[in-house]
Amino acid sequence: MPAHPSSPAAAATAAPSFLSLAPDALKALLLSWGEPAFRAQQLHDWIYVKRVFSLSSMSNLSASLRQRLATHLDWQLPKIHSQMSGADGSTKLLLESERGFIEAVILRYDGRTSLCVSSQVGCKLACTFCQTGKLGFVRHLSAAEILAQFAIADQIVQPEGRRISHVVFMGMGEPLDNYANVVDAVNRLSGKEAFGLSVRNVTVSTSGLVPQIRTLAHDVRAALAVSLHAARDELRTELMPINRRYPLAELKAALLDYQKDSGDKLTIEYILIKDKNCGLREAKELVKFLHGLRAKVNLIPFNSHPGMPFDRPSDEDIRTFQKYLSDRSIAAPVRYSKGLEVSGACGQLAAKVIQSISALPQREAVLNRQVQAPLS
Ligand code: SAH
Ligand code: SF4
Repeated sequence: MPAHPSSPAAAATAAPSFLSLAPDALKALLLSWGEPAFRAQQLHDWIYVKRVFSLSSMSNLSASLRQRLATHLDWQLPKIHSQMSGADGSTKLLLESERGFIEAVILRYDGRTSLCVSSQVGCKLACTFCQTGKLGFVRHLSAAEILAQFAIADQIVQPEGRRISHVVFMGMGEPLDNYANVVDAVNRLSGKEAFGLSVRNVTVSTSGLVPQIRTLAHDVRAALAVSLHAARDELRTELMPINRRYPLAELKAALLDYQKDSGDKLTIEYILIKDKNCGLREAKELVKFLHGLRAKVNLIPFNSHPGMPFDRPSDEDIRTFQKYLSDRSIAAPVRYSKGLEVSGACGQLAAKVIQSISALPQREAVLNRQVQAPLS
């Protein structure tokens, strides 16, 4: 991870992030320096087992080795621009990066701690209900930048006696549009030779990029969540323009094949938007789409925010929609997004900060790049 651009060291820092090297490559580097294999293993254990990321804390490495590591690799993690905690146990982090902000959200539950990570700054796919979609696309995050979100979050929760046990790719960006870096990051989050999370505890959420869904099961072991939000092409295209390129029939065929290859159950995410996608007609269409899929449905009441042309449905409409599914033996829990009082779902924290800093001249360059990036 390069130093933050405003830091005086930034220009001089050309070293790659320690997180950009896969565990094997890091060990190979030490062996190439003539260090014994057990020393390479000690460094590995600090990072991947103990989750200690500061060289000065790696007490069993000699001062000269630490110095050499400090010279060859960049050990800085991104700077936290702002941090907001809610009474529901969520902490939203806005991290500074070379071009624009990276948003990550810690979600504390009894017995587990989840992290929602971003895979891109902005997003190309322009879903009409999504704040990140409104920002446009700025750039892909590297695998190291995705893993850095995990490293920072774990450092925040360690003093509470917690460890990040689950990672969901539901922050900013479309993970499967940044395929190679996301596959690399997922494999290092869940790989036994890396951070070692259970494969079921890493979830990739996609708006439905069919070619990438078709290869995913061969490249990673992770849970797959699909943002459906409508099961009628005309309506889904209105909400999610990507549906024009990959309509529902193609998406369903890819999901059926994915299930054959991976053997795993899918999660279907369905935002409930007032007077839009949660009437009886849409419930029937959803049941039809689900036929043949092994899936549970997460119903997510839409998070309203200023400037969006949509609202959240009434509790009664939500219950009616849910009952239609449960009467047909489809598990469909209603998931209320955590962190609503500090700012809601997907990209909303970044969008809020960008609004609030827009008056500051020193931030204008960052802001302009972020909002003027072309949508595709
Ligand atoms: N691009 C991926 C992952 C990031 S979005 C995807 O679309 O799946 C993560 C989830 O947040 C998606 O299900 C998305 O539809 C949802 N989301 C976006 N804006 C939202 C809003 N205003 N209210 C509720 N959920 C929202
Ligand atoms: Fe991108 Fe997902 Fe937001 Fe759609 S919902 S604009 S795919 S981040």
